[in-house]
Amino acid sequence: MALQDISEQIAKAEAAAGRPVGSVTLIAVSKVQPNARVEAVLKEGHRCFGENRVQEAAGKWPEFRADFDGIDLHLIGPLQTNKARQAFELFQAIHSLDRPKLAKSFARLAQETGGCPALFVQINTGEEPQKAGVLPAEVDAFVAECRALDLPIKGLMCIPPIEEEASLHFALLAKIAERNGLNGLSMGMSADFERAIALGATHVRVGSAIFGARTPG
Ligand SMILES: *Cc1c(COP(=O)(O)O)cnc(C)c1O
Repeated sequence: MALQDISEQIAKAEAAAGRPVGSVTLIAVSKVQPNARVEAVLKEGHRCFGENRVQEAAGKWPEFRADFDGIDLHLIGPLQTNKARQAFELFQAIHSLDRPKLAKSFARLAQETGGCPALFVQINTGEEPQKAGVLPAEVDAFVAECRALDLPIKGLMCIPPIEEEASLHFALLAKIAERNGLNGLSMGMSADFERAIALGATHVRVGSAIFGARTPG
């Protein structure tokens, strides 16, 4: 099945990059997928999943959690500040921290609840006007601001522009992470996760290659 194939391709890419096998976390992106497909992947033993909408995740994961132990749920889509509390309750990691207002909201919630999901700062490496994310020139100051708020910043995340070579963006993200002393790199999707692993990805977000196409045709 597809999960097995992707896991093998990840292991090969890790080995080719001279990285320990198992050093890359596979986030199976289950957004919009029928529950039966998600359940099949859970039954194969996979536990790390990604969703891009809080509402959708809230609608389906509590039930899966009742049936399967150890689910590790990652938010990979944009987060409105008024949904931060709900996101804190649902997710073990959030990959879309992209503005001071959200950072301050997370800091308040962390203080109140005594915990915080692992956080990735989303970077708009392509400087696309329509895309979320901190601009490359503003990352260092933003990461410092998050650290001053005691937020557990694990790494950086990017979604490269579709019409550009993804590797350039992966390399840029790795460089920005390194100069900020961050180890986590959330980068690489179905079409390019092997290239991302070659450039240091620690978390790849793979949807359609595992579950099949999200929309018919
Ligand atoms: C949907 C999505 C993915 C997965 O995309 P595929 O091409 O299906 O692997 C990865 N990252 C983000 C942020 C997404 O929204």
